[in-house]
Amino acid sequence: METTNQARSLQRIIEAIATSDGAGVKLRRSLGRGPGTRLDPFLMLDEFSSDNPGDYIAGFPPHPHRGFETVTYMLDGHMRHEDHLGNQGDLKSGGVQWMTAGRGIIHSEMPQQEEGRMRGFQLWINLPAKEKMKPAGYRDIQPEQIPALAFDGGKVKVIAGELQADGRTVAGPVQGLSTDPLYFDIELAPGARFTQPVRADYHAFVYPYEGRLQIGFDAPRTLDAHNAGVLSAGGRIELAAGEEGARFLLLAARPLNEPIAQYGPFVMNTSEEIEQAISDFQSGKFVQA
Ligand code: MN
Repeated sequence: METTNQARSLQRIIEAIATSDGAGVKLRRSLGRGPGTRLDPFLMLDEFSSDNPGDYIAGFPPHPHRGFETVTYMLDGHMRHEDHLGNQGDLKSGGVQWMTAGRGIIHSEMPQQEEGRMRGFQLWINLPAKEKMKPAGYRDIQPEQIPALAFDGGKVKVIAGELQADGRTVAGPVQGLSTDPLYFDIELAPGARFTQPVRADYHAFVYPYEGRLQIGFDAPRTLDAHNAGVLSAGGRIELAAGEEGARFLLLAARPLNEPIAQYGPFVMNTSEEIEQAISDFQSGKFVQA
Protein backbone atom coordinates (compact mmCIF):
# COMPACT_ATOMS: atom_id res chain seq x y z
CA MET A 1 0.00 0.00 0.00
CA GLU A 2 1.33 3.39 -0.98
CA THR A 3 0.58 4.93 2.40
CA THR A 4 2.65 2.36 4.32
CA ASN A 5 5.55 4.67 5.13
CA GLN A 6 3.58 7.87 5.23
CA ALA A 7 3.27 9.92 8.41
CA ARG A 8 -0.32 10.46 9.40
CA SER A 9 -1.66 14.00 9.42
CA LEU A 10 -4.52 15.56 11.36
CA GLN A 11 -7.50 14.98 9.12
CA ARG A 12 -10.45 16.05 11.22
CA ILE A 13 -11.22 17.43 14.67
CA ILE A 14 -14.22 16.19 16.66
CA GLU A 15 -14.68 18.65 19.51
CA ALA A 16 -15.97 17.32 22.78
CA ILE A 17 -19.27 18.75 23.99
CA ALA A 18 -20.43 18.96 27.60
CA THR A 19 -23.21 16.50 28.32
CA SER A 20 -24.36 14.14 31.03
CA ASP A 21 -25.20 10.45 31.17
CA GLY A 22 -26.18 7.81 33.69
CA ALA A 23 -28.00 9.43 36.61
CA GLY A 24 -26.46 12.83 35.84
CA VAL A 25 -22.71 12.34 35.57
CA LYS A 26 -21.18 15.34 33.84
CA LEU A 27 -18.82 14.48 31.03
CA ARG A 28 -17.26 15.55 27.75
CA ARG A 29 -18.26 13.51 24.70
CA SER A 30 -16.26 13.70 21.47
CA LEU A 31 -16.71 10.57 19.36
CA GLY A 32 -20.35 9.55 19.33
CA ARG A 33 -21.73 12.97 20.25
CA GLY A 34 -23.86 13.20 17.12
CA PRO A 35 -24.38 12.00 13.55
CA GLY A 36 -21.17 11.31 11.66
CA THR A 37 -18.90 11.47 14.71
CA ARG A 38 -17.93 7.79 14.98
CA LEU A 39 -14.61 6.44 13.77
CA ASP A 40 -15.15 2.78 12.85
CA PRO A 41 -14.80 0.67 15.02
CA PHE A 42 -14.80 3.36 17.74
CA LEU A 43 -18.36 4.37 18.58
CA MET A 44 -17.96 6.81 21.45
CA LEU A 45 -15.43 8.44 23.77
CA ASP A 46 -16.44 10.11 27.03
CA GLU A 47 -14.07 11.95 29.34
CA PHE A 48 -15.23 12.53 32.88
CA SER A 49 -13.24 14.85 35.11
CA SER A 50 -14.37 16.67 38.19
CA ASP A 51 -13.35 17.56 41.73
CA ASN A 52 -16.99 18.22 42.58
CA PRO A 53 -18.90 15.15 43.86
CA GLY A 54 -22.14 16.68 42.59
CA ASP A 55 -20.87 16.05 39.05
CA TYR A 56 -20.35 12.30 39.51
CA ILE A 57 -21.89 10.96 42.72
CA ALA A 58 -25.11 9.71 41.10
CA GLY A 59 -23.08 7.33 38.92
CA PHE A 60 -24.49 4.93 36.37
CA PRO A 61 -27.26 2.80 37.93
CA PRO A 62 -28.23 -0.49 36.21
CA HIS A 63 -28.41 -0.19 32.43
CA PRO A 64 -28.04 -2.60 29.50
CA HIS A 65 -25.57 -2.94 26.62
CA ARG A 66 -25.58 -5.25 23.60
CA GLY A 67 -23.33 -5.70 20.57
CA PHE A 68 -20.08 -3.95 21.47
CA GLU A 69 -17.38 -3.42 24.12
CA THR A 70 -17.05 -0.72 26.76
CA VAL A 71 -13.61 0.16 28.05
CA THR A 72 -13.40 2.25 31.21
CA TYR A 73 -10.03 3.70 32.18
CA MET A 74 -9.76 5.47 35.53
CA LEU A 75 -7.11 8.13 36.00
CA ASP A 76 -8.33 9.22 39.43
CA GLY A 77 -11.06 7.84 41.62
CA HIS A 78 -12.77 4.64 42.54
CA MET A 79 -15.76 3.02 40.84
CA ARG A 80 -17.53 -0.24 41.62
CA HIS A 81 -19.38 -2.25 39.03
CA GLU A 82 -21.80 -5.12 39.31
CA ASP A 83 -23.56 -6.99 36.55
CA HIS A 84 -26.54 -9.30 36.23
CA LEU A 85 -24.26 -12.33 35.84
CA GLY A 86 -22.98 -11.80 39.37
CA ASN A 87 -19.66 -10.26 38.40
CA GLN A 88 -18.36 -7.56 40.71
CA GLY A 89 -15.27 -5.47 40.37
CA ASP A 90 -13.44 -2.49 41.71
CA LEU A 91 -12.01 0.02 39.33
CA LYS A 92 -9.31 2.11 40.98
CA SER A 93 -6.96 4.85 39.82
CA GLY A 94 -4.91 3.59 36.90
CA GLY A 95 -7.09 0.52 36.29
CA VAL A 96 -9.13 -0.56 33.28
CA GLN A 97 -12.37 -2.48 32.92
CA TRP A 98 -12.66 -4.07 29.49
CA MET A 99 -16.22 -5.29 29.12
CA THR A 100 -17.55 -7.28 26.20
CA ALA A 101 -21.30 -6.76 26.27
CA GLY A 102 -21.83 -9.33 23.52
CA ARG A 103 -25.43 -10.62 23.57
CA GLY A 104 -26.27 -8.54 26.57
CA ILE A 105 -25.25 -7.29 29.94
CA ILE A 106 -27.02 -5.22 32.57
CA HIS A 107 -24.65 -3.51 34.93
CA SER A 108 -24.09 -0.55 37.21
CA GLU A 109 -21.02 1.63 37.51
CA MET A 110 -21.09 3.54 40.79
CA PRO A 111 -18.55 5.90 42.40
CA GLN A 112 -17.09 4.61 45.67
CA GLN A 113 -15.96 7.99 46.93
CA GLU A 114 -17.87 10.92 48.30
CA GLU A 115 -15.24 13.52 47.66
CA GLY A 116 -12.08 14.11 45.68
CA ARG A 117 -11.31 13.90 42.03
CA MET A 118 -12.99 11.48 39.64
CA ARG A 119 -11.32 11.40 36.26
CA GLY A 120 -11.18 8.92 33.42
CA PHE A 121 -12.59 7.75 30.12
CA GLN A 122 -15.15 5.42 28.70
CA LEU A 123 -14.59 4.20 25.16
CA TRP A 124 -17.06 2.12 23.14
CA ILE A 125 -15.59 -0.25 20.55
CA ASN A 126 -17.86 -2.03 18.10
CA LEU A 127 -17.90 -5.82 17.64
CA PRO A 128 -18.09 -7.52 14.23
CA ALA A 129 -21.48 -9.00 13.28
CA LYS A 130 -20.31 -12.54 14.03
CA GLU A 131 -19.38 -11.59 17.62
CA LYS A 132 -22.27 -9.34 18.59
CA MET A 133 -24.23 -12.19 20.18
CA LYS A 134 -21.35 -13.94 21.91
CA PRO A 135 -21.57 -14.42 25.67
CA ALA A 136 -20.92 -11.34 27.77
CA GLY A 137 -17.69 -11.12 29.69
CA TYR A 138 -15.31 -8.67 31.20
CA ARG A 139 -11.81 -8.19 32.46
CA ASP A 140 -10.70 -6.04 35.36
CA ILE A 141 -7.17 -4.96 34.60
CA GLN A 142 -5.31 -3.72 37.66
CA PRO A 143 -2.87 -0.79 37.36
CA GLU A 144 0.14 -3.04 37.94
CA GLN A 145 -0.91 -5.21 34.96
CA ILE A 146 -0.55 -2.26 32.60
CA PRO A 147 3.06 -1.96 31.47
CA ALA A 148 4.56 1.52 31.34
CA LEU A 149 7.59 2.42 29.26
CA ALA A 150 9.52 5.51 30.30
CA PHE A 151 11.78 7.12 27.74
CA ASP A 152 13.58 10.41 27.32
CA GLY A 153 10.83 13.03 27.51
CA GLY A 154 7.89 10.84 28.25
CA LYS A 155 6.04 7.80 29.45
CA VAL A 156 3.60 5.44 27.76
CA LYS A 157 1.10 3.11 29.41
CA VAL A 158 0.17 0.26 27.11
CA ILE A 159 -3.40 -0.86 27.72
CA ALA A 160 -3.96 -2.68 24.43
CA GLY A 161 -1.81 -3.57 21.44
CA GLU A 162 1.95 -3.28 21.16
CA LEU A 163 4.14 -0.27 21.70
CA GLN A 164 7.20 -0.07 19.49
CA ALA A 165 9.59 2.60 20.64
CA ASP A 166 13.35 2.95 21.14
CA GLY A 167 13.83 -0.45 19.50
CA ARG A 168 11.72 -2.06 22.19
CA THR A 169 8.35 -3.76 21.99
CA VAL A 170 5.95 -3.64 24.93
CA ALA A 171 2.75 -5.66 24.78
CA GLY A 172 -0.33 -4.50 26.67
CA PRO A 173 -2.64 -6.86 28.59
CA VAL A 174 -5.34 -6.75 25.90
CA GLN A 175 -4.42 -8.62 22.71
CA GLY A 176 -6.03 -10.74 20.04
CA LEU A 177 -9.37 -8.98 19.57
CA SER A 178 -10.95 -8.87 16.11
CA THR A 179 -10.58 -5.10 15.97
CA ASP A 180 -6.92 -5.40 17.08
CA PRO A 181 -7.04 -2.16 19.10
CA LEU A 182 -4.08 -0.06 20.16
CA TYR A 183 -4.83 1.89 23.35
CA PHE A 184 -2.01 3.98 24.86
CA ASP A 185 -2.01 6.67 27.55
CA ILE A 186 0.96 8.93 26.85
CA GLU A 187 2.62 11.72 28.77
CA LEU A 188 5.14 13.96 27.00
CA ALA A 189 7.37 16.71 28.41
CA PRO A 190 7.26 20.13 26.72
CA GLY A 191 8.40 19.73 23.12
CA ALA A 192 9.07 15.99 23.46
CA ARG A 193 8.37 13.74 20.48
CA PHE A 194 6.76 10.33 20.10
CA THR A 195 6.66 8.06 17.04
CA GLN A 196 4.75 4.82 16.64
CA PRO A 197 4.36 2.55 13.60
CA VAL A 198 0.79 1.50 12.88
CA ARG A 199 -1.04 -0.48 10.21
CA ALA A 200 -1.60 2.04 7.42
CA ASP A 201 -5.26 1.12 6.93
CA TYR A 202 -6.26 1.15 10.60
CA HIS A 203 -8.34 4.07 11.85
CA ALA A 204 -6.58 6.15 14.47
CA PHE A 205 -7.19 9.19 16.64
CA VAL A 206 -5.58 11.06 19.51
CA TYR A 207 -7.30 12.76 22.44
CA PRO A 208 -5.24 15.24 24.49
CA TYR A 209 -6.66 15.73 27.99
CA GLU A 210 -3.91 18.03 29.23
CA GLY A 211 -1.85 20.46 27.17
CA ARG A 212 -1.82 20.38 23.39
CA LEU A 213 -0.33 18.23 20.66
CA GLN A 214 1.45 18.84 17.39
CA ILE A 215 0.60 16.20 14.80
CA GLY A 216 3.19 15.37 12.13
CA PHE A 217 6.80 16.56 12.22
CA ASP A 218 6.65 18.15 8.74
CA ALA A 219 3.93 20.81 8.55
CA PRO A 220 2.58 20.03 12.04
CA ARG A 221 -0.98 20.83 12.99
CA THR A 222 -2.02 21.72 16.52
CA LEU A 223 -4.69 19.89 18.47
CA ASP A 224 -5.98 21.45 21.70
CA ALA A 225 -7.09 19.49 24.75
CA HIS A 226 -10.56 17.88 24.85
CA ASN A 227 -10.75 17.30 21.12
CA ALA A 228 -10.53 14.01 19.26
CA GLY A 229 -8.04 14.41 16.42
CA VAL A 230 -8.78 11.90 13.66
CA LEU A 231 -5.65 10.96 11.73
CA SER A 232 -5.28 10.31 8.00
CA ALA A 233 -4.18 6.88 6.71
CA GLY A 234 -0.48 6.10 6.97
CA GLY A 235 2.02 3.73 8.50
CA ARG A 236 3.52 6.09 11.07
CA ILE A 237 2.18 8.35 13.79
CA GLU A 238 4.32 11.37 14.68
CA LEU A 239 3.37 13.48 17.71
CA ALA A 240 5.01 16.23 19.72
CA ALA A 241 3.89 17.99 22.89
CA GLY A 242 3.31 21.73 22.98
CA GLU A 243 5.03 24.16 25.35
CA GLU A 244 3.20 22.94 28.45
CA GLY A 245 3.74 19.26 27.71
CA ALA A 246 0.81 16.99 27.01
CA ARG A 247 -1.13 14.01 28.27
CA PHE A 248 -3.24 12.18 25.73
CA LEU A 249 -4.78 8.93 24.56
CA LEU A 250 -3.69 7.32 21.30
CA LEU A 251 -6.13 4.84 19.77
CA ALA A 252 -6.04 2.81 16.58
CA ALA A 253 -7.98 -0.22 15.35
CA ARG A 254 -9.02 -2.26 12.35
CA PRO A 255 -12.24 -0.86 10.88
CA LEU A 256 -15.15 -3.30 10.57
CA ASN A 257 -16.80 -1.72 7.50
CA GLU A 258 -20.19 -3.08 8.52
CA PRO A 259 -23.55 -1.26 8.72
CA ILE A 260 -24.39 0.15 12.15
CA ALA A 261 -27.83 0.33 13.71
CA GLN A 262 -27.73 1.99 17.13
CA TYR A 263 -30.38 2.67 19.71
CA GLY A 264 -28.68 4.08 22.81
CA PRO A 265 -26.74 1.23 24.44
CA PHE A 266 -27.65 -1.33 21.75
CA VAL A 267 -25.36 -1.38 18.69
CA MET A 268 -26.23 -3.90 16.00
CA ASN A 269 -26.13 -4.14 12.19
CA THR A 270 -29.84 -3.87 11.31
CA SER A 271 -32.97 -2.25 12.70
CA GLU A 272 -34.54 -5.71 13.08
CA GLU A 273 -31.69 -6.67 15.42
CA ILE A 274 -32.28 -3.47 17.40
CA GLU A 275 -35.97 -4.32 17.76
CA GLN A 276 -34.93 -7.78 18.93
CA ALA A 277 -32.53 -6.26 21.48
CA ILE A 278 -35.24 -4.00 22.89
CA SER A 279 -37.68 -6.89 23.01
CA ASP A 280 -35.15 -9.21 24.66
CA PHE A 281 -34.33 -6.55 27.25
CA GLN A 282 -37.98 -5.78 28.00
CA SER A 283 -38.90 -9.44 28.30
CA GLY A 284 -36.00 -10.17 30.67
CA LYS A 285 -34.00 -12.31 28.26
CA PHE A 286 -30.81 -10.42 29.08
CA VAL A 287 -31.07 -11.85 32.57
CA GLN A 288 -31.00 -15.46 31.37
CA ALA A 289 -27.26 -15.94 31.04
MN1 MN B 1 -22.28 0.76 31.02
